[in-house]
Amino acid sequence: MPIKEEKGNISVHTDNLFPIIKKWLYSDHDIFLRELISNAYDAITKLSRLSDLGQYQGKVPEPVIDIAVKKSDKTIIITDNGLGMTAEEVKKYINQIAFSGAKDFLDQYKDGDESSQIIGHFGMGFFSSFMVAGKVEINTLSHQDGSEPVKWSCEGSTAFEMSPSSKKEIGTEITLYLNSESEEFLDDKKINDLVKKYSNYIPATIKVNGKEANSREALWNKAPANLKDEDYKKFYNEVFPMEMDPLFHVHFSVDYPFHLKGIIYFPKNKNDFDVNRKGRIQLFCNNVFVSDNIIDIIPQYLNLLHGVLDSPDIPLNVSRSALQNDAQVRKIGSHIVSKIAEKLVDLFKKERDKFEIYWEDIHPFVKFGCLSDEKFHDKVHDCLIFKNLDGGYITLKEYEEKNPKLKDKFIYANDKQQQVAYIEQVKSQGISVLLLDNPIDNHLIQHLEMKLSPKKFLRVDSDIGSVLTAEEKKPNDEEQKKQEEENNKKYAPLFEAFKEAVNNNTIDIKVESHPKNDFCGMLVVSEYMRRMSDMSSMMSGSLPAGELQFHTLILNEDNEITKKMVELSKDKEKNQASLKNICSNVYDLALLQHQNLKGEQLVDFVKRTAEMMKRDVGLGSMEKS
Ligand code: ADP
Repeated sequence: MPIKEEKGNISVHTDNLFPIIKKWLYSDHDIFLRELISNAYDAITKLSRLSDLGQYQGKVPEPVIDIAVKKSDKTIIITDNGLGMTAEEVKKYINQIAFSGAKDFLDQYKDGDESSQIIGHFGMGFFSSFMVAGKVEINTLSHQDGSEPVKWSCEGSTAFEMSPSSKKEIGTEITLYLNSESEEFLDDKKINDLVKKYSNYIPATIKVNGKEANSREALWNKAPANLKDEDYKKFYNEVFPMEMDPLFHVHFSVDYPFHLKGIIYFPKNKNDFDVNRKGRIQLFCNNVFVSDNIIDIIPQYLNLLHGVLDSPDIPLNVSRSALQNDAQVRKIGSHIVSKIAEKLVDLFKKERDKFEIYWEDIHPFVKFGCLSDEKFHDKVHDCLIFKNLDGGYITLKEYEEKNPKLKDKFIYANDKQQQVAYIEQVKSQGISVLLLDNPIDNHLIQHLEMKLSPKKFLRVDSDIGSVLTAEEKKPNDEEQKKQEEENNKKYAPLFEAFKEAVNNNTIDIKVESHPKNDFCGMLVVSEYMRRMSDMSSMMSGSLPAGELQFHTLILNEDNEITKKMVELSKDKEKNQASLKNICSNVYDLALLQHQNLKGEQLVDFVKRTAEMMKRDVGLGSMEKS
């Protein structure tokens, strides 16, 4: 049917659709190119499908989408060798479908504010070209036998014109006459970048001014069995060029009950806890890039990983809040979580060595996951490993097996340097010490205690001695009370002397038996009280806590100096001076060991020690008693 010149009105009832669309999506004008390339690629696949079905007898050309950026004409022309359109189809698909689709889209979202932002603005389609162009022309020749080429043009109102054209090749050519605000797009490099960003993995050659611009290799669509580690690494380096090589990956390929393809990589990113950083997981829809900010789609902690996900089943034209509640999206999210957990468990069970090497980098992810997702915790908690200060890594179960004396207790240090004396002390009793020195470990400890109740974590400087003696001797409450009373009686004069020496009436002192240990006095801090005080100082912002509170001085009754002090305290009056010196020193040494000897107390200690040294070498004198 010959094409006659025609003018008409697009069947949209709102005259002001164009101003709305131009204003709206202001920051996302880029997407016009993604939409036009997607249409072009659709047209290409449709032609080859028709050919496969025997409904098109002609030759199907190699798929090419050609983009010409013409600075002098201020135009961008996008040409495809897809199935083309007849005049009737242009009227139907463009005048009616494209425009009404856009209208629906706008009606639904024109009041959208920040909170209801749409993830990918998908479905804008052909219409989005008016975001950057004052005038758009379609020049097309259908694959159908006997079709006449046709030209359609529209200047951004609801009026359009159609006329015959001279196009020879089957396919469609779209010319955008860029408006003055959009001249930034008249730049090869910019267009190249946009092709790379949105359409890199479209399986057709995309040329920009004659040069191939896309990679086409969407590795996630390939069968994992046909891929080697190098392929995955190479692809990772392409997608995340600024990152170090990844550690390992999980390849997704699901067709039921939803479609999901993708590769998630575990990156080398130790000490990276920023789950809000965008750019780590890229979302695609049928090979077309949608967004790299998909915190609403997947559980937040997954955002510590890197990768690509491709699913046509994630609704892209709904608001972010609707996305979060979408049942399909949730299913996809929990599938990803399960697969990742399975991978971790598998690695832990089959390649523990490797798992331990990776741990340094993956632990923030695993810990975040456990803290924020019950299901993830339940799947991976057996592979949580902790640095053991005896060397290597250990699980809590292994720790318990290794330290049967410590029923339901895990001893840990969170500062290897500061707690060195305590670590040695505990180790000398044949007990392993875990190192939990990452900021996230504090939260993890509390989380695990909740999960593993009544098991408890005790820091090395807490009252472990009594835990041990209690375990060894297994006294009952009554016995313990009696023992304490006896001790109080027996050591009352010594306690007095201590209180006088350190000039503190409220100091808490306890005597314990530690025959295997050589210490005289040691400070311990109540685990519970310390945590409370750490927490309140954290909340009031006065970090770091560190101040010594709620401490108890433990005296070792098996130590010679303690024995001597007990002896001296029997005649307190006579031995006042030596008692004062020794008590002060024992207390100060305990403080020093806890790295808490400060200020005046430190000055006094130095003076006193100097005096003692002088006396030892026969210089000066100690105060005569
Ligand atoms: P959608 O692609 O979502 O259907 P569009 O507004 O982008 O919506 O396009 C409307 C219709 O116009 C398409 O469905 C298609 O039939 C037709 N169309 C658009 N671009 C092309 C093209 N390059 N080649 C052939 N047909 C096209």
